[in-house]
Amino acid sequence: MTIHVVGAGVAGLAAALALAGQGHAVVLHESTTQAGGRCRALPDGTDNGTHALIGANKAALGFLERIGARASWVEPEPGGLPVLDMRDGRAFRLALSPFGWRDPALRPAGLSTAALLALARLALPLPDRAVGAAMAAHPEFLRGFLDPLVVAALNTPVAEASAHRLGAVLRRLGGPGATRLFVARQGLGPDLVAPALAALERGGVALRFGVRLRRLVLASGRVAALDFGGDAITLRPGDAAVLATPPWESQRLLPHLPVPDGYAPIVNLHFDHASPGPVRFLGLLEALCQWVLVRPAGVSVTVSAGDDAAREDQATLAARAWAELRRAALAFGLAGDWPEAVPPCRVVKERRATPRHTPGPPPRPPLLPMANLALAGDWTDPVLPATIEAAVLSGEAAARGAAKTAAGAARP
Ligand SMILES: Cc1cc2nc3c(=O)[nH]c(=O)nc-3n(C[C@H](O)[C@H](O)[C@H](O)COP(=O)(O)OP(=O)(O)OC[C@H]3O[C@@H](n4cnc5c(N)ncnc54)[C@H](O)[C@@H]3O)c2cc1C
Repeated sequence: MTIHVVGAGVAGLAAALALAGQGHAVVLHESTTQAGGRCRALPDGTDNGTHALIGANKAALGFLERIGARASWVEPEPGGLPVLDMRDGRAFRLALSPFGWRDPALRPAGLSTAALLALARLALPLPDRAVGAAMAAHPEFLRGFLDPLVVAALNTPVAEASAHRLGAVLRRLGGPGATRLFVARQGLGPDLVAPALAALERGGVALRFGVRLRRLVLASGRVAALDFGGDAITLRPGDAAVLATPPWESQRLLPHLPVPDGYAPIVNLHFDHASPGPVRFLGLLEALCQWVLVRPAGVSVTVSAGDDAAREDQATLAARAWAELRRAALAFGLAGDWPEAVPPCRVVKERRATPRHTPGPPPRPPLLPMANLALAGDWTDPVLPATIEAAVLSGEAAARGAAKTAAGAARP
């Protein structure tokens, strides 16, 4: 009995790892020449985009633990997030946890009992609406705290972001350490993708790269074969598959599948600028740059929900971003030189980075669209936003579903 996993993004990697851990024979098929999907290293080793996790992402951190990479994800700002407000040049530290707000120095601007009550209401199961409208009475708290949180977690501007999706995030922020922020010390290649592939190889998973699933051959409510073009794999009774492809590709393969209506871009700028200090992570308000990750090998800027940035030319983006991040680096006394001249910059525009999480009922694709086929992917979670956490959870759920169908078919 073999379980085929299609797509080597985080969801596919998590599914394959879980299945191998249960002793199944697993083959992982990936259309490109590398693993990681939307969370990958580019050929020159640069991350496609900065990926951050928080302590509440228990499934994602557990996955890192199982592949032996947990210690490679470091907490750059344990004393509170350094933030530069470009509106008035104020540089301050911000606690991400409400428990940290007991210290007035770490409180977000505009914090009040009424703002906290309005925030708490977002976590209640009330009719869905846009976060911006729900928090309109608290503009300073929205601007200084919620807007960056929403854009980072939902990759959707506050004016259109779903309060339900945000509520799912807020409900998970209460536990101890839930708001601790982690980033890959070196990059997604060495700190996620390579250790995941090594763990799969140790578990006996066969890895196939450069093979695109062209078509699912369906018969009697099950998948009869996986057609990779010229290379078709017949599924025997007891075999099963996990489809861990992005939504548009899953819908191409299964046209009746409900998928998200729209997608939002994330733009990342990677500056070739060595920095001698430790890994740092800064936030900016009222700026093009939302987050700045400073690693010894380079400096990366994230622009989530970056519809405008995705249209702008690369030289203009680089000049704007460097001027902003340089100001932040100098304001917080970051180690090293921060010259005015813009260093060489690589701009990565991921146009369909995640679904847009707007108000209204999310698509609810079935876990098992066919008797021997389970579905995975960040977009399949109807509650959490599309993130590494959702991808890992979906992969693990699909692994359970596929293993169950395989076990059921094997029974006499
Ligand atoms: C720039 C950027 C920044 C982000 N930042 C964060 C962050 O800070 N924190 C966070 O938690 N999340 C972040 N995310 C979201 C996170 O990357 C995704 O939620 C996650 O990687 C999705 O994984 P997935 O496996 O569901 O899908 P994908 O990564 O899309 O994986 C699908 C895989 O299937 C392959 N494939 C497609 N079609 C076929 C086919 N026909 N046959 C075989 N293989 C196929 C693809 O090549 C791909 O490898 C970010 C995303 C981007 C783009």
